[in-house]
Amino acid sequence: MTTGQRQKLLVFRELPADQLARLHAAHDVTVANPRIPAQLEAFNVALATAQGMIGSSYPVDAALLERAPCLQVISSISVGVDNYDLAALAGRGVLLCHTPGVLTETTADTIFALIMASSRRLVELANLVREGHWTRNIGEELFGHDVHGKTLGILGFGRIGQALARRAALGFGMPVLYHNRTSVDLPELAGKATHRPLDLLLQRADIVAVTLPLSSETRGLMGAREFALMKPGAIFVNGARGAIVQEDALLQALDHGTLRAAGLDVFATEPLSLDSPLRRHPKVTALPHIGSATVETRHAMAVLATDNLLQALAGERPAAVFDTAQI
Ligand code: NAP
Repeated sequence: MTTGQRQKLLVFRELPADQLARLHAAHDVTVANPRIPAQLEAFNVALATAQGMIGSSYPVDAALLERAPCLQVISSISVGVDNYDLAALAGRGVLLCHTPGVLTETTADTIFALIMASSRRLVELANLVREGHWTRNIGEELFGHDVHGKTLGILGFGRIGQALARRAALGFGMPVLYHNRTSVDLPELAGKATHRPLDLLLQRADIVAVTLPLSSETRGLMGAREFALMKPGAIFVNGARGAIVQEDALLQALDHGTLRAAGLDVFATEPLSLDSPLRRHPKVTALPHIGSATVETRHAMAVLATDNLLQALAGERPAAVFDTAQI
């Protein structure tokens, strides 16, 4: 990688001003978000000469890479790398960086909030107050279900899955089952978190939460068969990527199966279309992909992504490189 000289950078999603200033100080920067129609042409022009890119939430495939012949590094402001064609990046020798770790606790907070909201019907009951329908004590038909003491099944026991397990097991007395390709030995969760095959986990858990990466192995993992295996009255929460779930099968399980409720931060297509039945479904708590969306964490992600990009362009090993041969 070239070092020491000003290079051409393409910022394809908004960066906080302090991080953008760091890039401007060292390199020639174009800011153009291809999702904004008025900026698409500037994006395409800058792509042709860009040596580094930083951003997120935009698919980078082989066709796009062909239009970026000078590209050496992409710094993604995300931990998930499902928007990137990893084989094409590896084939071209383009370095991919991401932002693991800094968003772990915030995303686990969001997923736990969805577990609480879905189980205790928080949004539905808050709306009842807001809309003036709280005219007498609520009856049993509006009661929620306890979270503490329930068995939580976690699909994907990495950074976020483990942070979720700590909240559940240590804070809420919940036995945890997890599904991972490898077993994980965590002293603080000894005797409290147990490695289980997927089917067994689905049959035993009261609440199932997804914290898996989206990959060719996990795409569509939760389908009709898997929802049918879940306990009657179970709750399903997805805080990872929408395409891990077959949404038609989820709707079937909510409408005609025994699933009690679903809490969803992510969807197969985002933003969720206005005609999606998931948007207003009475059993669904839907959030606009806010897993990491706090002021502190989004800034920490931008700092790490900027560090990664500047380090790579200086010929140093960036703090968080994603191994494109890994998935
Ligand atoms: P991570 O540390 O890499 O954890 C992923 C876990 O999934 C690992 O324990 C991995 O273990 C397991 N896994 C991978 N493929 C699997 C498979 N085919 N079957 C079973 N287990 C598998 O990642 P993380 O930092 O926790 O993040 C997880 C995902 O959360 C990200 O990829 C991202 O898509 C999503 N996310 C969403 C938001 C949001 O805003 N909602 C925010 C942050 C992250 P093994 O390799 O041992 O199987």
